[in-house]
Amino acid sequence: MTTRINTQLTEKGIELILTPAAENALLEKGYDPTYGARQLRRTIQKHIEDPLAEAIVRGQLVDSARIEVDVEGGNFVFREAQPQAADAPLCYACGSKMQPAGSCYVCSSCGATSGCS
Ligand SMILES: [Zn+2]
Repeated sequence: MTTRINTQLTEKGIELILTPAAENALLEKGYDPTYGARQLRRTIQKHIEDPLAEAIVRGQLVDSARIEVDVEGGNFVFREAQPQAADAPLCYACGSKMQPAGSCYVCSSCGATSGCS
């Protein structure tokens, strides 16, 4: 089970996918019974959105629409999320379940693609 956070780091927005480890780390850093959700929101901004924006500016990450957030050595790390079969959309052309292909989806029935640039 992963948590998704939609953020607006770019004009099109980036979907952050938190691994369970990242989610736990975030809750630890952000948990404050006094401020609650507002504090958690600030924690996300400080520990994830700001460093992620820097990584994009430095060219360490492409401006991908889906970023997986994990924890390594106590630090948040970012990588491009690979499409998951379970997340594959239905083909807009023929209605078949699409398959992950690299960073996008391809319909195995009719060859239509989704998210490929
Ligand atoms: Zn199709």
